[in-house]
Amino acid sequence: MLDTNLKILNQLLPKLKKEGIKNFINGKQLKASSGNTFETHSPVDKEFIAKVALSDEKDIDQAATAAMTAFKSWKKMPHQERRDILYAIADKIEEHADKIAVLESYDTGQPIRFMKKAAVRGAANFRYFADKVIDAPNGLSTPDTHHINYTIRQPIGPIGIITPWNTPFMLSTWKIAPALASGCTVVHKPAEFSPVTASYLVKLAHEAGLPKGVWNVVNGFGEVAGKSLTEHNDIKALAFIGETTTGSLIMKQGAPTLKRVHLELGGQNPIIVFDDADLDRALDTAVFMKYSLNGERCTSSSRLLLEKSIYKDFVDQLIKRVQNITVGNPLDPTTEVGPMIHPTHQEKVLSYGKIGKKDGATLAVGGGTPDHLTNGCYVNPTLFINATKDMRIAQEEVFGPFLTVIPFDTEEEAIEIANSVKYGLTAYIWTKDVGRAHRVAHDVEAGMVWINSQNIRHLPAPFGGVKHSGIGRDGGEYSFDFYMETKNISVALGDHTIPQLGKK
Ligand code: NAD
Repeated sequence: MLDTNLKILNQLLPKLKKEGIKNFINGKQLKASSGNTFETHSPVDKEFIAKVALSDEKDIDQAATAAMTAFKSWKKMPHQERRDILYAIADKIEEHADKIAVLESYDTGQPIRFMKKAAVRGAANFRYFADKVIDAPNGLSTPDTHHINYTIRQPIGPIGIITPWNTPFMLSTWKIAPALASGCTVVHKPAEFSPVTASYLVKLAHEAGLPKGVWNVVNGFGEVAGKSLTEHNDIKALAFIGETTTGSLIMKQGAPTLKRVHLELGGQNPIIVFDDADLDRALDTAVFMKYSLNGERCTSSSRLLLEKSIYKDFVDQLIKRVQNITVGNPLDPTTEVGPMIHPTHQEKVLSYGKIGKKDGATLAVGGGTPDHLTNGCYVNPTLFINATKDMRIAQEEVFGPFLTVIPFDTEEEAIEIANSVKYGLTAYIWTKDVGRAHRVAHDVEAGMVWINSQNIRHLPAPFGGVKHSGIGRDGGEYSFDFYMETKNISVALGDHTIPQLGKK
């Protein structure tokens, strides 16, 4: 299977190397207006992948203008037609799922075993929101004695979508599908560390029949291209996924043009395991929710809170499991953890090994780089135990295969530790006591809580965080609240009283 994936890569890579990654504006592939490019390299072996358009405010302006022009006809397109285009995009993604998975894996370092599913999930996002196109404009009817009031939902306008590098393909579809289903048009700025699949995806969408200008992609750095997008007058809302500090900048940059913002930001999520839990399944979840997707996952459980009565046995099992995790080339289906996205991120994750030791926690597994993998940005799966809630490894987002274990005595203490961070994205609770499960779920500060479960995403359910993990919700109807405006229309049923000013 590694051979099959390498074969696919070797078919796709020479074209990328030769032609580079351009912008996609108004249905055409274009170089940056300045002619400038930057290089992108794979974290697997640091090999050159492509020269990428290094865009600035001129390119953003061109894309925003195209999105504004296309908005006028896209929002008026008969719903069935718009729905069918989204279905056709989903079909194209499925047709190309193997290629997308290989490109994503090589570009990001994410193991192919997860990327295959991510590509299929991307198609599912389009299909799910295609199904919703026809009902999206539906509003409420609120009749009064003399009036009928009804609401309709209308697309807000061109949307700026800014995505991070961790699972860029899936996250892009998650934002772009509901935006298009709403009747909005899009200017997408992918992360500079992983630009490959965004340009692949937009081309597929046009092959599927998407009209020009509806979906534009502009590559470049956040501080220039991203910033101009957040400031452009024609862009009506910003859907952002990334770090908390960047989210705060996005709000500031978008304020003068009164942008609506939806921010999906960082996390330091707890998994709380009580002594009455199904401990085998809790262990599977703790390992999966931290070491899958290289730990570069906003919803990953980075802090394991263990009741003291089960602490020792659980930690013994955990150590064995983490020691057994297979680190390697992400294109190999047996690989469980691949390389970090970039040398700077590898350095950051490794630095937390030193920070954890300095804080006084016990390094139980990992902490360095694997001896057999010297070319890429690899780190060993790392486990710190005997930590306390105020240590930096329990407070800051490491965003790598790095788990911190903290013991607790009581339910109250578990909640206090869980809530002691600035973030509030997800929490995972393991107990067979139904009352306790609900009590803790109510008191834990998080936008999403899973009880006796790993992170299973249900597309109609709301997705988003509280505190420094974000503002707003995605998913099902919640997405339409963001991408659409609600308009109230009031119709008089008869001759109600109209005060007659100026009539003597
Ligand atoms: P990042 O904030 O560094 O970059 C995200 C995007 O923002 C990139 O496209 C970047 O170019 C752009 N950007 C940077 N500065 C900008 C500016 N001033 N104006 C406009 N755009 C700008 O994040 P990252 O390092 O790419 O991704 C990792 C982070 O993403 C982690 O914190 C992770 O938790 C978070 N994340 C959150 C979710 C969620 O759903 N809550 C999902 C995935 C990732």
